[in-house]
Amino acid sequence: MIKVVLNRKIAQRIANGHPWIYNNEVDKIIGEPNPGDIVDVFYYDYKFCGRGYYNPKSQILVRLLTRKKEDINELFFYNKILQAWQYRQKLGYVENCRLVFGEADELPALIIDKFNDYFVFQTLSLGIDQYKNFIVNAIEKIFNPKGIYERNDVPVRELEGLPLQKGFLSNPFDTNIIINENGLKFHVDIENGQKTGYFLDQQDNRKAIQHIVKGADVLGAFTYTGTFEIHAAHYGAKTVYGIDISENAVAQANKNATLNGYENICKFEAMNAFDVLKNWSKEGKKYDVVMLDPPAFTKSRATIQKAVTGYKEINLRGMKLINDGGFLVTSSCTNLVDPELFLHTIQQAARDAKKKIKQVVFNAQSSDHPIVWGLENTNYLKFLIVEVRDL
Ligand code: SAH
Repeated sequence: MIKVVLNRKIAQRIANGHPWIYNNEVDKIIGEPNPGDIVDVFYYDYKFCGRGYYNPKSQILVRLLTRKKEDINELFFYNKILQAWQYRQKLGYVENCRLVFGEADELPALIIDKFNDYFVFQTLSLGIDQYKNFIVNAIEKIFNPKGIYERNDVPVRELEGLPLQKGFLSNPFDTNIIINENGLKFHVDIENGQKTGYFLDQQDNRKAIQHIVKGADVLGAFTYTGTFEIHAAHYGAKTVYGIDISENAVAQANKNATLNGYENICKFEAMNAFDVLKNWSKEGKKYDVVMLDPPAFTKSRATIQKAVTGYKEINLRGMKLINDGGFLVTSSCTNLVDPELFLHTIQQAARDAKKKIKQVVFNAQSSDHPIVWGLENTNYLKFLIVEVRDL
């Protein structure tokens, strides 16, 4: 077995259980590993640290799979995936959930979403990509699924020297499926939808709008498949208007409104939310509830400030559109803007919009995407509801 020996001084992070070993944390490598090989990692004094996979193409030289001297074989992956499923079951997830959330489930760079009997997965590093067969076998054994699909058309794979690809890992099936969530139905386009086709991370937060939308005129921006908006109609909103920049998303959202019988309440249109929020707040339009769920405005530390400016802009405009005593429902899905910075940004937006806000709900992502303390990038979603009053 190849040995990777860490520097004398290492980040406390590794000793505390973080699975990433960066290039500059390694003192020496004994043996000549090939990209993707399993290696043993030792502290400077040759005490065993863990076992993981190696890729010199990536800044993260080793991602640890275990802290034990155990074999990384088919049974290892089966047990990890089964454990991940048992955890979700304990939390009450039945049909849909993120079955594996990478590092949080001790399977670095592996994402598996379960849409009832269908499974969509991403292997985002070379190390994990080699075990695709084991992973597929485990899903087949545990779930006897109707279909498995690979959505590896993700640019981060290029950093690992991997090709972008998507396709069936089971017998072909109709990739336009319908899932149930909170008593509603949604079309999911596994093949061409964003990411794995559907954002499960907000599934619990969507229920949180239940009481504030009754009888309300609702504006939703960044709606994608229209999930929050259709929930609003379901919970008794009077009218719901949703905007997304993507024509495909809007078509899907309108289809979902019809699927649930809310086509007379919900209407979706393709527009740029930045323009709409700006123009309509200037025109003095008013809504009882405004919901914002934008994409990650940044993917790197270098552009955090730009992201913050974006969050402030849409939330400021959004608040201006809200009737006195109405509600803002707002999210941020990048771990680079931490909860404190997000709340601070919303506070700044309220101040500039001349509004007083009262916190109703402040959540992270749903618990099928576990936040592991010490793994800061697992804590990524902020979901906030505030009551908004004129100053
Ligand atoms: N609320 C959705 C997820 C939204 S994802 C859900 O619960 O599933 C973010 C969405 O923002 C994407 O659909 C993307 O097309 C859209 N988007 C990105 N930039 C936009 C812009 N400037 N204006 C409107 N929509 C935008």
